[in-house]
Amino acid sequence: MRLIFLGPPGVGKGTQAANVSLKENISHISSGDLLRTAVDAKTEIGLKAKEYIEKGLLVPDELVVKIVVEKITSAECEKGFILDGFPRNLSQAKSLDNTLNESGKRIDKVFYFTASEDVIIKRIAGRRICKSCGAQYHEMYSPPVNDNVCDKCGSELYQRKDDNPETTSVRSKVYKEQTEELIDYYKRNGELIEVNCNGEKSEIQQNICEGLHSMSEDEKGME
Ligand SMILES: [Zn+2]
Repeated sequence: MRLIFLGPPGVGKGTQAANVSLKENISHISSGDLLRTAVDAKTEIGLKAKEYIEKGLLVPDELVVKIVVEKITSAECEKGFILDGFPRNLSQAKSLDNTLNESGKRIDKVFYFTASEDVIIKRIAGRRICKSCGAQYHEMYSPPVNDNVCDKCGSELYQRKDDNPETTSVRSKVYKEQTEELIDYYKRNGELIEVNCNGEKSEIQQNICEGLHSMSEDEKGME
């Protein structure tokens, strides 16, 4: 099962990807994490990416695609994967499809998570991060046992400076503009499933589950 999870920052797709990855026993791949790991490990690609990151520039598509492809063609991803935060644009999506085609594979479904701006602003305002280990919490959805204290290491939690309504609103707008072509591309290919995230967690999970199920019915006997 090869899936892509798309959606603006704060919509909660990372949490959903983590859930589905556990349930279906497939790898959860965040392109941001991959990039950080490559930089820390000082791999050839990591060192190249670092030059851009240090200058505050976006890492070029070519490098990001290389890192992701390396991962998804590894043994770890044989059973399948969820791509979280990748592709970011049409050019990355096409490179991804071309690479998969070379080995006779394809993306099965693309989940597109949406929510109203109010909901996204509320979610982002509640995000808290551990100063020491980086663990993520949410005041309402996944609070720590003790107020403002990390469950894992006992350090203090903080709120990212740019997690405010103004920045959130700008980020959502930029995301929408950048991904419009991408969403159309997957729609045309008939792979897109839109999941509305305004409701309760259980409702959202139910919608994802139905999307996954419809796929296994459709493709019975095709593999
Ligand atoms: Zn911690």
